[in-house]
Amino acid sequence: MKTFLKTSLLTLAAALCCLTATAQPKVIAHRGYWKAPNSAQNSLASWIKADSIGCYGSEFDVWLTADDQLIVNHDRLYRGIYMTQSKAETICNLKLSNGETIPTLEAYLQLAKKHPNTRLILELKSHNDPARENLAAEKVAALLQAHGLLERTDIIAFSLNACLAFRKLLPQTHIQYLNGDLTPQEVHKLGLDGIDYSFKTLQKHPEWIKEAHELGLKVNVWTVNKEENLRKCIEWKVDYITTDEPELLQKLLL
Ligand code: MG
Repeated sequence: MKTFLKTSLLTLAAALCCLTATAQPKVIAHRGYWKAPNSAQNSLASWIKADSIGCYGSEFDVWLTADDQLIVNHDRLYRGIYMTQSKAETICNLKLSNGETIPTLEAYLQLAKKHPNTRLILELKSHNDPARENLAAEKVAALLQAHGLLERTDIIAFSLNACLAFRKLLPQTHIQYLNGDLTPQEVHKLGLDGIDYSFKTLQKHPEWIKEAHELGLKVNVWTVNKEENLRKCIEWKVDYITTDEPELLQKLLL
């Protein structure tokens, strides 16, 4: 029996080693695949393009407007309009570079449901008022739940307040911290699921990758576009790479 157990454990260890050796980072399109023809950052088209090339995930940015609506856009100030100080009606009339208008989160999620192979990497932007951020987190959680998309979504945020608000609301959802100022140990203690740090931060602290993995945390790195840096991230064995060049990364992973 003892020998059987020993053999089984050795086989399991070998299998795990094999799995680790072959595990490759997954591709996340940053603000969707916006460099594709007729696309734009955070547009509905950018989601479809990311999905069409088989990205593991597609990242997008979310704001809470002055009238408590959720919209998808990166910039705090876009075409002279502040996202947090304006009404959704005004914001959603603003044109993106591909001719689309800024989408509501509702429209974005409706579309994501029709393209079910790509994971949603939802970034809640940092709002100046923590109470607004908490309300945004509540509304995002409710909307994801209403659309049955919680299991397909990972949440990311620079704001620790936002990460912790989501943690309380969504105990099962994967939440990664973006700001780069906490060690993996600290992130783990806070009950978050991973670090999602800049390439520069991980270059400064490559030991955090192993430390994070030993704690059971995932490691995402942003926003890596140059071939040599993408290769470095593959070498580091991070779990996810967020990039504006998803097709280049896919080629490097072949
Ligand atoms: Mg973002």
